[in-house]
Amino acid sequence: MRKILKKKEIMPTQNANDARRKRINLYKKILISIIVSMIVLPTLLCIVLFIRISFLEKDLTNANGELLSVQERIEPLLNNMQNQQQTESAVVEPTTAEPETETETETETQLSEQELVSQALAEGRKVVYLTFDDGPCGNTNNLLDVLDKYNVKVTFFVNYHEGYANEYKRIVEDGHTLAMHTVSHNYAKVYGSVEQFKSEVVTLQDYLEEITGVKTSFFRFPGGSSNAQTKIPIADFITYLDEAGITYFDWNVTCGDGGTVNEQQCIDNVINGVNKVDVSIVLLHDSTAKLSTYEAIDNIIEKLQEMNVLILPITEETIPVKHVTK
Ligand code: ZN
Repeated sequence: MRKILKKKEIMPTQNANDARRKRINLYKKILISIIVSMIVLPTLLCIVLFIRISFLEKDLTNANGELLSVQERIEPLLNNMQNQQQTESAVVEPTTAEPETETETETETQLSEQELVSQALAEGRKVVYLTFDDGPCGNTNNLLDVLDKYNVKVTFFVNYHEGYANEYKRIVEDGHTLAMHTVSHNYAKVYGSVEQFKSEVVTLQDYLEEITGVKTSFFRFPGGSSNAQTKIPIADFITYLDEAGITYFDWNVTCGDGGTVNEQQCIDNVINGVNKVDVSIVLLHDSTAKLSTYEAIDNIIEKLQEMNVLILPITEETIPVKHVTK
């Protein structure tokens, strides 16, 4: 009985121990599982992420490569487009310049000098070319002011005078015609030989071009082509002028200031002379030695304008008056 009892007492203790061991084992397993999970899972995750990053890096590299190749293909297209735009704007420019073209057309439709002359003559008007020799001088600016006041354009046959650059320039800027007389106006020098004559013309022509930028091709012989001062035939000088493309102009009306006249005589000579012919080339002087001309000029212009005369500057279209031809 005692033995059985002992056995019976021993049995529950064993069972309890087994159960505890089992529980401990279970806890161990759970703990190990948790630890393993905590180690393995992040490791696996890291591996997965690493692989994923590797793939993404590859993708990025591929994408970069594609982007570069697209850029390479697009660049020529962009260049072409830019070139096209430049060409188009170049083509557009004439369109924006249209008003100028219209102005040019309008200018072209304006009458030429000879058409103006013909029209004036047909209307019974006189045509006058006022010409002033021997300048510039200290009075030239005053004369230019007078011409400006009446809005009249004339022709200046100038000599070589130093210190008058502004006057030469103003003649051109004011719209008058700059023309040549000679350098020295000394008959012995000018008409001494063809070489001397040529030198007088070329030197003056270059001087005027240097100052004004205008290469004038209009000339007047000192004393006119009918002068009695030359020992050499005037035809020799005319031959040179023809070869040089220079046109000479004499006159068919003068105020007489080549000699001595007073203001009233100067006015009368011009008006009487203009009344005798349809087209006049009027000889006047721009020289401090010819004061009566400056005194008369206001009156001369006013009378000519009252007579409704067409006053013009000499141009390449002007038909010259020549005392002597070859
Ligand atoms: Zn002269």
